[in-house]
This record gives sequence, structure tokens and C-alpha cells, in this order.
Amino acid sequence: MSSPTGRKRVVVLGAGVVGLTTAVKIQEKGEYNVTIIAETFPTDPKTIMYTSLWAGAHHVSHAANDAKQMAIDRETFNVMWKLSEPGGAAEHCFLRVAQTDYLLDGRDECLDWMPDFKTLPQDALVPGTSAGTSFTTVNIDTPVYLPYLLARFLSRGGSIVRGSVQHISQVIEGGPGLFRRGRADPELVHALVICPGLGARTLGGVEDKDVYPVRGQVVIIRAPWIRSGRTVSHLEQGLWTYIIPRRSGDVILGGTKQDNDWYPAARPETTTDILERCLALCPEIVPPAIRAERQGTIEDVRALIVEEGCGFRPQRKGGIRLDVDWVPGRAGQSSVPMVFNYGHGGGGYQSSWGSASIALALLEKALASPASKS
Ligand SMILES: Cc1cc2nc3c(=O)[nH]c(=O)nc-3n(C[C@H](O)[C@H](O)[C@H](O)COP(=O)(O)OP(=O)(O)OC[C@H]3O[C@@H](n4cnc5c(N)ncnc54)[C@H](O)[C@@H]3O)c2cc1C
Repeated sequence: MSSPTGRKRVVVLGAGVVGLTTAVKIQEKGEYNVTIIAETFPTDPKTIMYTSLWAGAHHVSHAANDAKQMAIDRETFNVMWKLSEPGGAAEHCFLRVAQTDYLLDGRDECLDWMPDFKTLPQDALVPGTSAGTSFTTVNIDTPVYLPYLLARFLSRGGSIVRGSVQHISQVIEGGPGLFRRGRADPELVHALVICPGLGARTLGGVEDKDVYPVRGQVVIIRAPWIRSGRTVSHLEQGLWTYIIPRRSGDVILGGTKQDNDWYPAARPETTTDILERCLALCPEIVPPAIRAERQGTIEDVRALIVEEGCGFRPQRKGGIRLDVDWVPGRAGQSSVPMVFNYGHGGGGYQSSWGSASIALALLEKALASPASKS
């Protein structure tokens, strides 16, 4: 049975940046009834179970020579650039900034398509780095942008249900109603779209052990005078030093990159290390009034702290999973396609729109195939 509107019913599992963007993309096609089921939504208190609120977040692609990933990131950048233009649909969710990237190993970032791209001359590099670039990008104000995506979805008729899914068969058999009212819906679910981030490791029916956490610790300070971003990558040491200013005046200082580190709270010694590295890279984070009188110290920066914490980047061996599998439908229903979009690691924002386009194409192809006729 179709929904009362005659449209096919699609359930998206997950309401992080990947689930929300994918749900919006599918819904705006105008042909589906879309429901998101998730344990955590954007306006809930911050938790380690929901990575999207912990991200910096800027668009600085790490795709380098990976052509598929680069196409995904470029499509996303184009959407975000449009959303962020003065008077654009989501201007206030973004800050357009001059970004400077310093590299220790001189690897090619392949970012010459970014606006205002320049290679830095040797005398503009910071000590210890061997190459650098500057360009204009967008920084995303995550606590504003995620509710924007949710509001866009709801205002066009999408629905949301809070629920903790143990096995995907629960959604196929019971539909969103099982989680809303404890009873199965009469209407069938025609397709599932799986965007659970790190939850893909444990979600029954998926249990993808190639997904693992890459812990990132950050410090948020209040420093509205900072209006440009800086990054140094020292990835071999599990470090990344970055300064990411947001439109709100908050600035994200980071960070770390620790594979399979499950510790869910800020470590005080790491906070001190982040403050030291960021102060060395960007002495301007000290308030201008103090700098006018003396050299700033990390205690001057510590006084600006709003919050410290960490998130688990949902990394996947082999990269983002974007494919389709089929699961048995409810009694009397043929197979149901399950489209996967997870494993975005440290780039879920910058790959969100491009990966959502691929997920939509996979969904449409699957729903048009004979295997999905009920
Ligand atoms: C410190 C840090 C800095 C970062 N900086 C950047 C950056 O600058 N740029 C960038 O692009 N990315 C950045 N990232 C990466 C980015 O945050 C992630 O790639 C992205 O948030 C992943 O989003 P997601 O939707 O896949 O997962 P999540 O945000 O974790 O969302 C998962 C969703 O699935 C739901 N879920 C999971 N399992 C179940 C279940 N069984 N039942 C019901 N619901 C379930 C959860 O409740 C949640 O709604 C950063 C990450 C960190 C930690």
C-alpha cells in the first residue's frame, strides 16, 4: 500500500548533517513522502553519539587525487557557496572567509578551483612547513545550519520520529509508526536510506566493522575579531592545528585526529596542547587590547573558553559507503532497497550535498527496478 498521497514512502535513518541533507534532497524531488527516524536531532543537547554538532566546520576538501570524492566535495561547495551568498537562502549559517593552509609534507591539495586560490611564497610560510595555499571558503555555523536543514525539511512536509533502531527489519515491518506509537503503520515502507554515522558499526542488518571513530578534540572560544581561518596539518602525528571562526563570533580551535580512540570527553592536557599550538599559529586569538600592551599567553586564551569537548569522526576503511542492498519486505511485499550514505570521516559537511545527490540517484534507480515492485 502507498501512502495516502500515492507517493512512495522513504525512511531516512539518521539526522546528522548527512541524514538531514539526504532527506532534503530526496524530499525536494517532489515525488516521495519522507520520514527521518533518529535517536538524536540537531537541537538536542550535545552528545558524543551525534558527531555533527562537534565539527569545526569548514569546507577544505581533503580529496586531493581521488576524483570521485573531489566531485562530491565540489558539488557541495557550489551549493554552500550559493546558500551563503549575501541575501542567500541560508546566508546566516555561513561565514565566507580567507583560509590559509600550511602543509608539512608539500603534498598537492588540488584546491586550485577554490575562489581566490594562491600558492604561498616560501617567505610567507610558518616555521616547520614546506608549502602553503590561500583561498576563500565557507565556514559552517553548525548549531545554526543543522536546524536550518531540519526546518527546511519540515516546512516542506517532511516528518520526523525519534527512535532508537536496533535492526533495520524493525523499520521495514513497522514503519515510523512503530517508533511513534508502538504500532505498525498500515502503509508500506518502499525504501530505506541509511545515514547513521558511527552507528553503522552496531545497527542490526548493517553492522559495518569497517566504520571506526577518529576522535577529534576541540576548544570553542569567544573571539569575534577573528575573521579568517588557518590550518596546519601534521597528520602523521595524529594532529591538526586549526582556527575556524564562525559567523556568531565563536571560534573553533583544534585539534586532534586519533584513530579508534573512544574516550568521550575533553582531556585537560590536550586542551592545553591545542591552546599552545593555536596561539603559535595565530597570535591574534589573544584579545587586541592585551596584544597592544604585551605578548599574549595561553592563559589569555583560556579566559575566552566557552566550551571544550570532542567528537567521533565516522571514518570508514575504503571511504564513504554509497551503494544499495536489498532486504526482504513485509509479508506480501517484494524486496526493499536500502541505500547507504555513511562513513564520511572528517568531511561530512563538505561532502553532504554531493553524496546526497548520489544517494538520490541510487534510490531512484532501485525504485524503478523490477525487484522493488510490491
Ligand atoms: C572535531 C571535528 C571537526 C570536524 N570538522 C569538520 C570540518 O571542518 N568539515 C567537515 O566537512 N566535517 C568535519 N567533521 C566531520 C563531520 O562532523 C562528520 O563527518 C559528520 O558530522 C558526520 O555526520 P553523520 O550525519 O554521518 O553522523 P552524525 O552526525 O553522528 O549523525 C548520526 C545520526 O544517526 C542517528 N543514529 C545512529 N544510529 C542510530 C540508530 N541505531 N537508531 C536511530 N538513530 C541512529 C543519530 O542519532 C544521528 O541522528 C569534523 C568532526 C569532528 C569530530
